[in-house]
Amino acid sequence: MDLSTAAQNAKPSGVRRMFELAKQYDDAINLTLGEPGFTAPDHIIQAAIKGLADRKTKYTPNAGIKALRDAIAYKLEKENGIKCDPDKNLIVTTGATQALMLAMVTLVNPGDEVILQGPNWPDYMGQIDMVNAKAVYAKVDDRNGFKMTADIIEPLITNKTKLIIINSPSNPTGGVLDYEDLKAIAELVKKYKLFVISDEPYEKLVYDGFHQHSLAAFDGLEDYILTINSFSKTFAMTGFRVGYICANEKITENLIKLHENMVASVPEPMQLAAIEAIYHGEADVRKMVEYYDRNRHLIVEGLNRIKGFSCLMPKGAFYVFPNIAGFGMSSKQAAEYILKKTHVVTSPGDAFGPLGEGYIRICYASKYEDIQEALRRMEAAFGTK
Ligand code: PMP
Repeated sequence: MDLSTAAQNAKPSGVRRMFELAKQYDDAINLTLGEPGFTAPDHIIQAAIKGLADRKTKYTPNAGIKALRDAIAYKLEKENGIKCDPDKNLIVTTGATQALMLAMVTLVNPGDEVILQGPNWPDYMGQIDMVNAKAVYAKVDDRNGFKMTADIIEPLITNKTKLIIINSPSNPTGGVLDYEDLKAIAELVKKYKLFVISDEPYEKLVYDGFHQHSLAAFDGLEDYILTINSFSKTFAMTGFRVGYICANEKITENLIKLHENMVASVPEPMQLAAIEAIYHGEADVRKMVEYYDRNRHLIVEGLNRIKGFSCLMPKGAFYVFPNIAGFGMSSKQAAEYILKKTHVVTSPGDAFGPLGEGYIRICYASKYEDIQEALRRMEAAFGTK
């Protein structure tokens, strides 16, 4: 069958593979997918139900309904210090996933180079491949706190560089960029005049009083930064599929044009639910972050007691990315070994790009008791230090 090169080159997910392998065990504890351990808050679900009951069953404008764009603009100004005209700078998308694909299609030509951190969320690599661009990895590891700082990015910039992707807090590492890190990146962007996607779906999942700044809040960057965000992780709304892009007017006009060809518009009941999340969801977020924080301490302290693991305390998201050098095997072998011995399902680091080798990813958004049990099994199987 003569399928496209994009289809032929697309790589199966290394995370899903572990999923499949785990199916043989009835008592498997699955700590792979980045799925919040909660379902969406009830009042948010009710807003979607009301939308359907009110017969909001039609297409909406490509950019999304005005009330949601108003709500997002209000949120961006109040929480992120980003000025944004809801009629000129915003588009509502099918989650951050489509936002990212849309942004790539709008910005990047075949052969362009895209700088992103390695290890990274695998979908970035899949999307870069789909637009026939080249991924250039900025190496982050547990020695530099998993931070993609300006000094790591700058030597990678060439005359082919078109785009930089920043993701703080990061999937898969949980690393964050603080104000000074972002300020240095802002200077770099001004110097080289490059587009930047700042992918911020984990912005509120931060701990120890850390506050995530947005790159677009720095002066003079309006023309370069596309801020992408989503309701998925923050409000446990992964299945609602609502995200957005805030960008300059000319970019936004083009995003809207291409969005028509991809999905046309996001279902209105889900957009109504997103409005409810913005105006009334903060207490839910605080509760969930407290829960994740407890899990975070449990998993990091637990892993650091067990032979083979060495784990940094992440400041954001809901992942740990422990170094597994102590196992003396590749990340794929280690994830399979852990599964076989303990029935605990983790993701091998190499699923997150070539620079993920030497680590595994564990999502700690699941139930506290499941993480306790996973640690108990691993401690019994591998021993303590
Ligand atoms: N960016 C990152 C870094 C992610 O981890 C994810 C989801 N795992 C997304 C974007 C996409 O999220 P969604 O499409 O659900 O908004």
